[in-house]
Amino acid sequence: MNIHEYQGKAILKSFGVRIQEGIVADTPEQAVEAAKKLKEDYDSSWVVIKAQIHAGGRGKGGGVKLAKNLDEVKERAEQIIGMQLITPQTGAEGKKVNKVLVAQDVYYPGESETKEFYMSVLMDRAAGRNIVMYSTEGGMDIEEVAEHTPHLIFKEEIDPKVGLQGFQARKIAFNLGLSGDAFKDMTRFVAALYKAYEATDSSMFEINPVLKTSDNKILAVDAKVNLDDNGLFRHPDYAALRDTSEEDPTEVEASLSNLNYVKLDGNVGCMVNGAGLAMATMDIIKIAGGEPANFLDVGGTANAQTVKAAFNIILKDPNVKAILINIFGGIVRCDRVAQGVIDAYNEIGNIPVPIIVRLQGTNAEEAKKLIDESGLQVYSAILLKDAAELVKKVLA
Ligand code: GDP
Ligand code: MN
Repeated sequence: MNIHEYQGKAILKSFGVRIQEGIVADTPEQAVEAAKKLKEDYDSSWVVIKAQIHAGGRGKGGGVKLAKNLDEVKERAEQIIGMQLITPQTGAEGKKVNKVLVAQDVYYPGESETKEFYMSVLMDRAAGRNIVMYSTEGGMDIEEVAEHTPHLIFKEEIDPKVGLQGFQARKIAFNLGLSGDAFKDMTRFVAALYKAYEATDSSMFEINPVLKTSDNKILAVDAKVNLDDNGLFRHPDYAALRDTSEEDPTEVEASLSNLNYVKLDGNVGCMVNGAGLAMATMDIIKIAGGEPANFLDVGGTANAQTVKAAFNIILKDPNVKAILINIFGGIVRCDRVAQGVIDAYNEIGNIPVPIIVRLQGTNAEEAKKLIDESGLQVYSAILLKDAAELVKKVLA
């Protein structure tokens, strides 16, 4: 689950990570009040107005702007709140900005003495461990750094038995070219950051840039925090930070019905029990000359309710020209799934596209019989090969 910069920063701060302080605002008036408060609390007369959307690259798209006085705060906040912000990560349609973070300007005075770094903590699947990835090339697109100057990206593997060690934090500060107070502050920063990452059950923290201020303090200017969905049950307070307005509406609806759904661009909708089988089904659709319109794993309980919810979600996509249901009856009996499909079909009524149902496993024959005798416009198959042929036939 992704969260906003301001929420991520609040979490970091609660673990002792120094951040660029800020106050979130929904309106230009609130932004002005926030700027006044920042001036009182942090003596920050210049502020940055930062669009809060679940995508990076906001600076490039005009979503991060400096304001030198309260008039400018109001003006910039008016520009940014409500705008459709397009960044390299949002896609061409962009994302609507509902909130801004009004943050202290941490670059002045003495911008020439500041330095931006890159730092992230994430799970490295190849190493099977968490790593701290960091670079002297902060503030810019890390993918570009990786492509053109990969030797400027460092990785530190963390042993899960002992966690991040002091020598590792010092090595990181050293590789970043720091000395004196900034060196010490970086070791504290890294240690707090790693602790926060572990304690929150996150799958990624990305802080770009990490800033060394002109008075040698290290702080997080940006925060991209990705919490592991599977750990959220342990953190109800973090789970509450979910902002569904940032997510694909169909995917939100699917998650409310406990369906694992990812929208794709093709023309054949699919409904499958099990993620591996769903992947194989998508391959079969391609081999048959179609393109999968989605990934959808209905999980272990394919009953009339889940099948109905899945139908409704698939049918929201106007590109869908056919639906392939592929169920392996292991624990769940095929005839019960077949009955679920028939019931869901009757309840929804008038499904405008052909449906191919392939049921294999326990009671597959009974299931095929049920469907064939139901009188519905549903094609049934037991072998995947036959299902693929049917897909080909209905698309032709
Ligand atoms: P992103 O573009 O979505 O990654 O948003 P960031 O929070 O990283 O901000 C983008 C850029 O804005 C940073 O790389 C900085 O160069 C700049 N920026 C952020 N905060 C400040 C600030 O307090 N003062 C100044 N002058 N620039 C800032
Ligand atoms: Mn950034």
